[in-house]
Amino acid sequence: MLKATKVRLYPTVDQRKAFAFQFGAMRWAYNFTLGWRSSAWKERGESISKRQTLDKLVELKATEETGWLKEADSQALQQSVMHLDDAFKRFFRKQGRYPRFKSKHGKQAMSYPQRVKIVNGVSLYLPKVGTVKAVLHREIVGKIKTVTISRTQTGKYYASILCDDGLEVPALLKTIEADAVTGIDLGITHLAIASTGEKQKNPRILKRAAANLRRKQKTLSRKKKGSANRNKARVLVAKAHERTANTRNDFQHKLSKRLVDENQAICVETLKVKNMLKNRKLAKHIADAAWGELLRKLTYKTAWSGKHLVQIDQWFASSKTCSDCGTKVDAMPLSVRQWTCQTCDQEHDRDINAAINIRQQGILKLKAEGLSVSACGGSRNSGTLPVAA
Ligand SMILES: [Zn+2]
Repeated sequence: MLKATKVRLYPTVDQRKAFAFQFGAMRWAYNFTLGWRSSAWKERGESISKRQTLDKLVELKATEETGWLKEADSQALQQSVMHLDDAFKRFFRKQGRYPRFKSKHGKQAMSYPQRVKIVNGVSLYLPKVGTVKAVLHREIVGKIKTVTISRTQTGKYYASILCDDGLEVPALLKTIEADAVTGIDLGITHLAIASTGEKQKNPRILKRAAANLRRKQKTLSRKKKGSANRNKARVLVAKAHERTANTRNDFQHKLSKRLVDENQAICVETLKVKNMLKNRKLAKHIADAAWGELLRKLTYKTAWSGKHLVQIDQWFASSKTCSDCGTKVDAMPLSVRQWTCQTCDQEHDRDINAAINIRQQGILKLKAEGLSVSACGGSRNSGTLPVAA
């Protein structure tokens, strides 16, 4: 299984200079290649291949003017232009936007595909930079595949170490207990609403952090371009971003871990996430709730434990259908939080009802994949329905 561990690095002054040079070379190669490939496409309708891109790199290193690239780590340099190639592929598959130039003001990053070593458990050997002091909270197990070094805008250095621990991914559970299947509705005031009725609020701290961020952003926009004060303001904005991201990350790790620990299958509606992101008005809220990131964490955590993440990516009326009798109502504006089914008189909390429907759809999907979902008992508690056979 591949697992990534992120560790903080504490480079010396000289090592910081070495990093700055490496980052600069990676950025230069990336931006040069982007410009070259873009103009080939725009001017001649010519598409440049990965092979041509790598050949160009060799050519650049042999040219006097750009020979300084030889001082950069050659495999990391190749990795950098390959990342651009991946970005182009995503763009052509309509999975991403057109690649953009990297700025020296943003977060800096480079990837070493090999040759990184852990030295005595307290530092990391990085080619062209040296042995850098690191804080390793746990032992790094297995074979190191790639190591990505990044420098945040606030000047912190990190290494994300991707390792193959040599263990097999556990086989997916074949028999699932209905009690251990949960449906999750992703919301805005609440990040996640479970079919059990549990509502998981977005931490308030994120809201406060967002207000702080807005204020700092405003200050930044008033500073004169290129001034020292503007740079200071930029770092303050970056720090606020960093704090928000860290808070959200911790919260999501705990939530996803608990969901995976407590269940054998988790059902989510993913089409909704894709559609919502297109809605501009809601986009900010959704960015805050960070559904995509939560889904990503759920995906690998379920996979690591042989559990199921059932993604419901077909449109179905999870909010408009009565989870008790299946009656579908014509309209359900977002403002309606509670409603009563006209057919069976059941009162519904909008979000919990949707989560129950998502769970039922998930169970149907699991069964359609040939898995057995054991119905146990007929007892209903806190909104969880007995499973229809
Ligand atoms: Zn009903």
